[in-house]
Amino acid sequence: MKQITETSPVQDYLENLHAQFAGISEGTVATYIPELAKADPNWFGICLVTANGAVYEVGDSRLPFTIQSISKPFVYGMALEEHGRAEVLKKVGLEPTGNPFNSISLEAGTGRPLNPMINAGAIASTSLVAGDTPEHKLKCILNTLSLFAGGPLATDPSVYRSESETGHRNRAIGYMLRNFGILNDDPIPTVETYFQQCSISVTCRHLGLMAATLANRGVNPVTGKRAIRGEYVENVLSIMGSCGMYDAAGEWMYSVGMPAKSGVAGGIIAVLPGHLGIGVFSPPLNTWGNSVRGIKVYDALSRHCDLHLFNRASGATSAIRLKATGTDFSSNRSRPAEQRNLLREFGGRIQVYQLQGDLSFSTTEAVVRDIIESFDSMAYLVLDLRRVLSLSESACWLLHELLLKAHKQGKSVVISHSHHLSLLRRYMTARLGTQRELIFRTADDNDLALEWCENSLLASLPITSDSGEAPSTPLYELCQDLDPDEYAIFVASLQRRNFRAGEIILSAGDPAHEMFFLARGEVSVVIQTETGDRKRLAAMGPGMTFGEMAVIDGAPRSATVIADTDVECDILTAQELELLGRRYPEIRIKLLKSLTLSLSRRLRAANRELGLLR
Ligand code: GLN
Repeated sequence: MKQITETSPVQDYLENLHAQFAGISEGTVATYIPELAKADPNWFGICLVTANGAVYEVGDSRLPFTIQSISKPFVYGMALEEHGRAEVLKKVGLEPTGNPFNSISLEAGTGRPLNPMINAGAIASTSLVAGDTPEHKLKCILNTLSLFAGGPLATDPSVYRSESETGHRNRAIGYMLRNFGILNDDPIPTVETYFQQCSISVTCRHLGLMAATLANRGVNPVTGKRAIRGEYVENVLSIMGSCGMYDAAGEWMYSVGMPAKSGVAGGIIAVLPGHLGIGVFSPPLNTWGNSVRGIKVYDALSRHCDLHLFNRASGATSAIRLKATGTDFSSNRSRPAEQRNLLREFGGRIQVYQLQGDLSFSTTEAVVRDIIESFDSMAYLVLDLRRVLSLSESACWLLHELLLKAHKQGKSVVISHSHHLSLLRRYMTARLGTQRELIFRTADDNDLALEWCENSLLASLPITSDSGEAPSTPLYELCQDLDPDEYAIFVASLQRRNFRAGEIILSAGDPAHEMFFLARGEVSVVIQTETGDRKRLAAMGPGMTFGEMAVIDGAPRSATVIADTDVECDILTAQELELLGRRYPEIRIKLLKSLTLSLSRRLRAANRELGLLR
């Protein structure tokens, strides 16, 4: 749990707000429920919780009070989960009333309460909660609200008793609902459950967490537990937006601009979807039944922290972190000079898009447009999703359309690092079914994605020479400058060693006395990353050299080399190299020159990639 208690400017600001408004004496504590009249008008707490779980609290943020009407949107959400939108709509409408919360007004004709935030609509919602008995219903309500709050909640029996003893108006509403067939049987047990739900004891901190759970699309950001299915969060929030502040909902939306709900005990929650939730508690109420200090806090907070829902910065910052081609970037496969030259010439046909952040409709639209505009010069597309945090359904749809268009145009698409994006996987499987493999392929990382693109690009070029059966001792790339006599001398100082597929040829950390010339087969150079995964630094085939660095600087091996296939190596020990150099300085110089060239080529490539990443 990220508990932030000092030095954050957010904390400082909330403390200032609290100090600024604590002295306000306007408003009166609700008295129509006798037990609520006992509230101290000085109680005052604020709690702000971000959608990633940072909790800021000031004042009486841990003081218990009853949730009252703030329970209504949460119970409405439970009704939606239980019956679905269509069924719930038959019993409760969606329109603000402009009347007080306890008005006895039902829709003409249907008898439906106008919305779930007035008592009539809330009592109807309570009746729709799962549970055969009132006790069972209450248990369900407590369980769900506890998930929202991130800790166990219970009712306050004295407030419940107090309201039950005096709540005749709500009973009258119950009988009206029974009369219109919104409730199907004795309304009294439902009204009692409603009283109990209103008497659930919470703190300001609970309210902040409950609001933040709505901001986080139904998952409590501190406990990580889901309290409501994500698809219903928008319904709960839109009702809070239009009806949450009783008959002051219009003014609230105009000035504060966040879906909210207030309760007669003095609590107010507000939600900035995707960002944060806030709970404020101060018992004195204005004539509409909303906490006076609460409204002041929200007015100030909304302005100072830019929380108004209709004053959002553009979310369409670029989702393209990096755009490069197969000329700028290559896979870690070491290739002979001829292939390297081909890739330098034709690598532009491979295009790499590294995406980042949250892919929504607006961010993905820009990505898709950019890629389609580059179609002409592209034959291969690598979509790197490693830094994508989330995808919306509409982002999946746009990517899906893009893949279809790319396929139609004969482009090959490789998506890398997509395993953390389960929605995308499900979406593509649902849309493409068995066609999937035809339309795009996936790769665990960019290295493998690029290698696949390079291989198929090289194979598509008519000029590629077919290596055929490799000679038993190929012309090693490092020996390019040696004349045939020198080469014969060089070969005489090698010794042949064989390895089976899967065998470790050398291990990181080992002392090093020899370098390897790969005569046959394939090897991978790998390191172990901090997370324990293996990362491939290079993959090599016949003619290549490895293990040379350690021979140059004498340091232990920096990486591990594994035989991917059965492998034959020619080994040159440091001692032999020394001997060779003493007898044939010319050969040694030529070898070292090639070695220097190959190292500088690798350094240049690394620099180029680093430059792109900046
Ligand atoms: N239990 C209270 C009632 O029905 C809730 C009202 C409220 O918080 N506005 O009267």
